[in-house]
Amino acid sequence: MIRGRGEGACPLARLAAEIRACRVCAAHLPLGPRPVFRVSPTARLLIASQAPGTAVHETGLSFNDPSGDRLRDWLQMDRDTFYDESRVAIVPMGFCYPGRLANGGDAPPRPECAPLWRDRLLSLMPEIGLTLLVGSYALNHVLGRGAMTEQVRAYRQHLPRYFALPHPSWRTTAWERRNPWFAAEVLPALRSAVRAALKEVVLPASPETSRRQARHAVSRGHASPGEAPR
Ligand code: SF4
Repeated sequence: MIRGRGEGACPLARLAAEIRACRVCAAHLPLGPRPVFRVSPTARLLIASQAPGTAVHETGLSFNDPSGDRLRDWLQMDRDTFYDESRVAIVPMGFCYPGRLANGGDAPPRPECAPLWRDRLLSLMPEIGLTLLVGSYALNHVLGRGAMTEQVRAYRQHLPRYFALPHPSWRTTAWERRNPWFAAEVLPALRSAVRAALKEVVLPASPETSRRQARHAVSRGHASPGEAPR
């Protein structure tokens, strides 16, 4: 977790410290402010989620709950990688636990939060190549209002920048049963996109990239000029 307020701290660390001290909608938060997010200037994958639940509020660790277990299962990603902040950022639409609705569901993310902080945070993470839009609030914020199932079904249209996903809560179990194409088609594509974003696969280099790398090797004395492809 990056920290810092002092003059020597990087701009992202200063902004993160400012957010952790935020009390803007304290009057509406039943458990009080506790912003939970994970950011780094080197992160390549961004998980744009909803808002913390009570377990996340208590531990201060994003997706440290059954929803996180399901998301890691979808991604086939272990906890060490998921919580490697230098590679994976987690920025929900609301940073603090927003409470419950009268009907028992989680309240929506506080509407003050994303307009206040989101663009400023994302502007300081220039390496993000892929953003997972997890659940309706993130989907609607970025892609515009629409039915979640159709946004997920059309996942290819949003690549390579975004990957549309349902929220991985227990309610999604029945949704997954009704939509078997999600496990059969979307999850394998999700895993490939995430591996590529984290640079875990070596994609075949283009001829121009190969030539550039070879010229670089020659200039550094690691290869002779005759070895450089044209
Ligand atoms: S939800 Fe966002 S705006 Fe509200 S107190 Fe927490 S950090 Fe501040």
